[in-house]
Amino acid sequence: MASIEFVKVTKSFDKHDVIKDLDLKIEDGKFTVLVGPSGCGKTTLLRMIAGIDPQTSGSVLINGKDVTKIPPGQRGVAMVFQNYAIYPTMSVRENIEFGLKNNKVPKAERTGLVESISATVGLSEYLDRKPSTLSGGQRQRVALARAMVKQPSVFLMDEPLSNLDAKLRVQMRIELIELHKKLGTTFVYVTHDQVEAMSMADTIVLMNKGLIQQEAPPEIMYRKPSNMFAAEFIGVPPMNIDDLGVAGIKFGFRPESAVLSNEPSGQHFSIRGVIATREMLGSETVYQVKYKNSSYMIKCIQDNFTVDQDVYLEVAANKMFFFESDGNRIGEE
Ligand code: ATP
Repeated sequence: MASIEFVKVTKSFDKHDVIKDLDLKIEDGKFTVLVGPSGCGKTTLLRMIAGIDPQTSGSVLINGKDVTKIPPGQRGVAMVFQNYAIYPTMSVRENIEFGLKNNKVPKAERTGLVESISATVGLSEYLDRKPSTLSGGQRQRVALARAMVKQPSVFLMDEPLSNLDAKLRVQMRIELIELHKKLGTTFVYVTHDQVEAMSMADTIVLMNKGLIQQEAPPEIMYRKPSNMFAAEFIGVPPMNIDDLGVAGIKFGFRPESAVLSNEPSGQHFSIRGVIATREMLGSETVYQVKYKNSSYMIKCIQDNFTVDQDVYLEVAANKMFFFESDGNRIGEE
């Protein structure tokens, strides 16, 4: 197992700083998810840990040791990519065994490892098949097994599920959580999908433009976003944020925190707006409510409101968020 630390790390491409003075500690044995919009620097961080593309300045430490001069193959890390890089002409067994053969691991040991690892990821019965005869999820498991066979102390995963369809992604998310529990190894997982981050992470590291916006467990990220960026990034639909009419201060509330009704209860933040759109999702309905020049997204179980209908929109005081003009949330951490 291994902890990872970035100390004042800067990474530049063509004199442009993509990551600047970044400090970050990734805990030993935890499932850490790096999340943020496209281009914010997630993959760049992962590649620096792997040693594929080293930092411009600062240090990367694995288990407290500066690994700047240690080549990728000797860092004890394994990487799983989005386009899982498995060899189409080799069988599943040969694919998994490949790295071991290269490292001249004796045959008996190789066979034992391949068998135990393929059992862990549910591939035992597919060992003699070619990748082209496997489903997307099974191929993804081959890629995982290829990484696992190296017995790394850190797993780096770069959007490994993005080529899978929605249903399979949900299933593989659960499998990865279970795999992490089984192995107890440090996982660092990159995604731009906040739902993946929320469902899998012990710790989410939320990034924007090369800077860390917040580092917290999913529940804290949702309940106590440190700023407007975090508030809007986590949650679907995103938090409603609007001007309060007070200099510089904004307010926000989550779509699922509002209640729609025909009669106001009088105890809450309350406005009388009109339903502009209605989207029935099954167990929930998403409405867009217009009020003066603003519009708010509301997600609730009530499905009986119709477009153009006047409604009261209410939010309990303890469900409201407030933000300073610099975007930071006002209130306890
Ligand atoms: P995505 O979710 O789209 O994969 P990301 O958060 O992983 O994005 P990175 O791939 O880390 O983002 O890229 C961060 C920034 O660095 C981007 O602006 C990208 O264009 C730039 N960048 C990455 N690699 C290089 C390179 N080899 N040369 C020049 N610029 C690069």
